[in-house]
Amino acid sequence: MTLLKISGLQVAYGGIQAVKGIDLEVHPGELVCLIGANGAGKTTTLHCLGGLLKPSGGSIHYQGKDMLAVQAHDRVRLGLSLVPEGRGVFSRLTVAENLQMGAYARKLQPGELEKAFERFPRLHERRDQLAGTLSGGEQQMLAIVRALLSKPKLLLLDEPSMGLAPLMVEKIFATIAEVTADGVAVLLVEQNARAALKLAQRAYVMESGRITLEGPAAELAADARVRAAYLGE
Ligand code: ATP
Repeated sequence: MTLLKISGLQVAYGGIQAVKGIDLEVHPGELVCLIGANGAGKTTTLHCLGGLLKPSGGSIHYQGKDMLAVQAHDRVRLGLSLVPEGRGVFSRLTVAENLQMGAYARKLQPGELEKAFERFPRLHERRDQLAGTLSGGEQQMLAIVRALLSKPKLLLLDEPSMGLAPLMVEKIFATIAEVTADGVAVLLVEQNARAALKLAQRAYVMESGRITLEGPAAELAADARVRAAYLGE
């Protein structure tokens, strides 16, 4: 079954059409990336999926359910979780407190936080540190782990590598690979098209509010148009 099915999605800001009728699917456990230039409409699309924005047309179905009738917080409860661009961690709360918030929709099982910390020792060392004092990469990691504690079936990641040092970018991508290895599907919006296409199974290219190319990530990475426009070749 299709986990996520977007059909004919349109979004307008006032009179400006930012998303012009796109179709996109994610299957269970799949890693799909959405690439495209600045202003193509990628963030707008993710915000619609997370329930932060109302589309002006089209539909979003998740697990066969019409998501446009479901509030943002209830989407999280259903396993659709968004990590927005700029991370959105609570900077005046500690690392541990931020993670407890991640599970707000349900009760954390005993030992669950410890298990998350085991996997991310860097966060464990900093568990009592205020999130605002973490490095950009550590904050990004925290935002992802926090989203994972809501037990998502589909994780929506908006530019997770933005502004990070190369070593940290590598860590973030390794973490995304681990997440999908656990069976969580990921829809990844990335400026770093090269890394995203390497990691993903399928990819979509978005230009000026429309999907202009789609297919297996390896095929798109070899496509002359993609190479010229997004891989700097
Ligand atoms: P980026 O990588 O720069 O974030 P993007 O592909 O995510 O780009 P969006 O942020 O979705 O693109 O923007 C799509 C279009 O919608 C752009 O032309 C942008 O200027 C416009 N837009 C985005 N947010 C708003 C807003 N709040 N009000 C008006 N226009 C907006």
